[in-house]
Amino acid sequence: RAKGAEMPGKDCVKVAVRVRPFNKRERDAGSHCIISMASSTITIQDPRNSQSPRSFCFDYAYWSHSGFTRDRSGLYVPEEPGGRYADQGSVFQDLGEGILENALQGYNATLLAYGQTGSGKSYSMVGYGPNKGLVPTLCDRLFQAIRANQDSRQCQVVDLLSRGSRSPGGLRVREEQQRGFYVEGLRRVPCDSAPQVEQLMEQGTRIRTTATTHMNANSSRSHMLIIFQLKQIFSKESITKQSNINLVDLAGSERQRVSGSEADRLKEGTAINLSLTTLGNVISALADVAVGKKVVHIPYRDSVLTKLLQSALGGNSRTVMNAQIAALSPADICYEESISTLRYAERAK
Ligand code: ADP
Repeated sequence: RAKGAEMPGKDCVKVAVRVRPFNKRERDAGSHCIISMASSTITIQDPRNSQSPRSFCFDYAYWSHSGFTRDRSGLYVPEEPGGRYADQGSVFQDLGEGILENALQGYNATLLAYGQTGSGKSYSMVGYGPNKGLVPTLCDRLFQAIRANQDSRQCQVVDLLSRGSRSPGGLRVREEQQRGFYVEGLRRVPCDSAPQVEQLMEQGTRIRTTATTHMNANSSRSHMLIIFQLKQIFSKESITKQSNINLVDLAGSERQRVSGSEADRLKEGTAINLSLTTLGNVISALADVAVGKKVVHIPYRDSVLTKLLQSALGGNSRTVMNAQIAALSPADICYEESISTLRYAERAK
């Protein structure tokens, strides 16, 4: 085993929380920061109750912006934020490297991003412009590794794009004994460069946007799964290694509120919440298994999302590395959503 590839177990779930800078809405509201950090412990203060700060300890806790300094008005920025700043590159080092290394070793790896809408999930996963997120960086690095080993390995990376996502009722999820759950009719595209993957992702994002508009929703109300299937053929030793990297940008975790005649939205919101709740239950059951607790039932079958992630999350012995990034706003006005995101993240540990 190469450096970086870890044995399955509790330590192989890495959880990071990342707090984004204030946005305009929060600044305009005169909001202040309720988050503080010390090393990998993050503390959140209930703005209505100064007696009750709550602390959570994860593998990593970061501010994501080095310009996070005291504001003239003194209102919304903590004087001494503590903790650590992490740019896109450091997040990749902490979470992406292990995933890449494991995939190259032939093990499956999964990365999940969650948090309320606007908290920075896509920023961490995809990024914008030169601030490349985990997915494009992973992609670059994957192809670099492939090129570097061209003489001994012949690699094929496959991106899944669901062409049929606009068909009424969507695609079918099926189950086979050997294969587990899978989506019928997904398109797999062989790729041989990172720009090609980026192009497919743009195309996929467009399809996601049209599909969700069609369903009277927006992309913050859908989950996006990017699956790289990596097949490495070591011809000298006649060995083949196959692994999946699953990258999951989850729907916004905010509770859906009923407003006016939004019954359909509510139904959809309930479905999203069900899949997030089930995912949380599965992850926490798996964390119990990892520390040797007896667990009778892992509820993979309770949602479509967990069915599809079953082998990725541990239904399959070849899964080694799971990483999660919880995205947070620093602002008091987001307290309720932030504490629920932190509680969700805590379940994996
Ligand atoms: P989400 O995917 O959770 O809905 P986004 O990633 O789209 O949220 O982030 C919302 C906004 O906040 C974007 O304009 C993004 O540029 C900004 N943002 C999010 N995270 C960061 C970060 N870590 N550093 C700087 N800006 C960020």
